[in-house]
Amino acid sequence: MSLLEVLESEWADPSPAIRLASLRRALSGRIVFTTSFGIEDQALTHFIAEGELDIDVVTLDTGRLFPETHDVWDATERRYGLRIRAYHPECSELEALNEHHGVNGFYSSVDARHACCNVRKVRPLARALDGAAAWVTGLRASQSAHRQANCLLEWDEARDLVKANPLLDWTRETIVDFHARNTIPLNALHARGFPSIGCAPCTRAIEPGEDERAGRWWWEQSSKECGLHVGPEGRFVRANQSGGELK
Ligand code: SF4
Repeated sequence: MSLLEVLESEWADPSPAIRLASLRRALSGRIVFTTSFGIEDQALTHFIAEGELDIDVVTLDTGRLFPETHDVWDATERRYGLRIRAYHPECSELEALNEHHGVNGFYSSVDARHACCNVRKVRPLARALDGAAAWVTGLRASQSAHRQANCLLEWDEARDLVKANPLLDWTRETIVDFHARNTIPLNALHARGFPSIGCAPCTRAIEPGEDERAGRWWWEQSSKECGLHVGPEGRFVRANQSGGELK
């Protein structure tokens, strides 16, 4: 039985605590969890901290986050006694981006928006994951039709690592109920109609009945993704289709 098959059989258990511990046991290399401090990521930080798992908790500080996000970041560090490492955009790339597209150029075209996400998110993520054996995310399938294509465990061919989504089969109700039963810092924006929280200029509250990610890049008819969660050709890469080797 391959390492991936072992992991997949242990991940039949719905508990993220068990899934994360199993991932840590199975892989010898560095495991990185990227948090944006949303309700899903806060649950994963809780499981990692309470389980004392050797998983690096990092964040991408784009420079355009809401003040409420910095507040919950600080509250999380104090709650768990953690220092969450921040990866920032490179100054020279930011200067070139602003020179070319303007400070709010992301509203002008999809290409300009992708250029901004690339400098502020995708490239810092590449540095955060450099050399890692696995990347843990807070993706849930029910967040959008796009994310229903994901698997609990995937082989990320482009980044040469295991992508682990331990909350993929959790619903919004499951996650809300989990938080109701635990004392975990939450971003104050969730209570103001923001189920999904990204950069301030690119996120709005949603209306009842709207898709959870409808408030992200609301002016676009796009996939509501920023380039972090797609393969090199814009496709999701599933573990059982890759044939890649686990480290
Ligand atoms: S979400 Fe908006 S501000 Fe943030 S990196 Fe993407 S385009 Fe830039």
